[in-house]
Amino acid sequence: MAIIRPEIIYIEKEIAELPYTRVILQKFSGIPAQIIGDLRALIQKNKKPFFTKTGQPLVLAKQRGRFLRKCPGTKEHICCNYYTLNIAAGCPYDCTYCFLQSYTNNPYYIIYVNLDDMLAELRASRGRIRLGTGEFTDSLALEQYTGFAAEYAPRICAVSPDITLELKTKSSFTPDKIWTAGLTRFRRQIVLAWSLNPQMIIDSEEHYTASLADRIQAARSAAAAGCRVALHFDPIIYSPGWQEQYQAVFALLNIPPEKIAWVSLGAFRFTPSLKPIIERRFPDSTIVYGELFPGRDRKMRYPEPIRIKVYQYMLKQLAAISPALPVYLCMESPEVWQKVYNKHPAQVKQLNELF
Ligand code: SF4
Repeated sequence: MAIIRPEIIYIEKEIAELPYTRVILQKFSGIPAQIIGDLRALIQKNKKPFFTKTGQPLVLAKQRGRFLRKCPGTKEHICCNYYTLNIAAGCPYDCTYCFLQSYTNNPYYIIYVNLDDMLAELRASRGRIRLGTGEFTDSLALEQYTGFAAEYAPRICAVSPDITLELKTKSSFTPDKIWTAGLTRFRRQIVLAWSLNPQMIIDSEEHYTASLADRIQAARSAAAAGCRVALHFDPIIYSPGWQEQYQAVFALLNIPPEKIAWVSLGAFRFTPSLKPIIERRFPDSTIVYGELFPGRDRKMRYPEPIRIKVYQYMLKQLAAISPALPVYLCMESPEVWQKVYNKHPAQVKQLNELF
């Protein structure tokens, strides 16, 4: 997990007395705190993109929009029926390709603390939902400060057996005794997920994150503690030697296949506005160069034949681990699905739970 040391903590007056606010503040003793009226006014005064830096201020705030949202997916690409739970924004890691750099004009770590409202929203939802907290942050990087997963993951799952909660990370988070106790009741509903990439890509593009070996070891520990785990190869970076690099990842994957709830594959894609930011902030990175073309959603992608070749290779490697693994493509076009699987996702037997 990541260590952060905010230079100041802003606390919205409206939520200052909530017990969860006090729990988080205890973890930051010695750091100056200031009560503010409304986060939106603070951002308005200090609009800047979010970049990870030591001392990034932290804001404890009220979520005034909805916590629960359907994943927006991307235009004319197949969506995997995912929901997001917006409990925080900002991330202590600093991935070269992170979309937050061009997406947000808010330079703070934000933790939303009115989580009773979140639970109320979930109680009002209907039907089966698969949701995750990792759209605007890493789900577990700040767990030592927030205790969100230990305290609220069981409460979320207790709302309904139809809820599956995925906590996705690039950390080496390992379930401890508190976690294991909470999981005992909800081990079918909570999925701990790790994003994986070759160590070479982690070194060059996923700054401050856990090493590949540590992520896999953490996933193994989670599986041994009774959790279901998920694996995300996203973004897959196509570069010289990519097959050998990903082969080395598969060689390390010693997680019992029956503990793997699902695997996703997503080739690198990015909005054009991210390119100058990456060029400026990470001049040594080469990921935005080479054969990349705008798709129907205007995001830059590798050409279709390359994506198909990469997915077919990854699927073959995963099938060698277990042919029963549910593997899906993230934000891909119907044409690519068809060429990779020879079917629409709804017809892929292993993906019944997801689609
Ligand atoms: S872990 Fe995710 S949210 Fe954090 S910097 Fe990397 S891509 Fe962005």
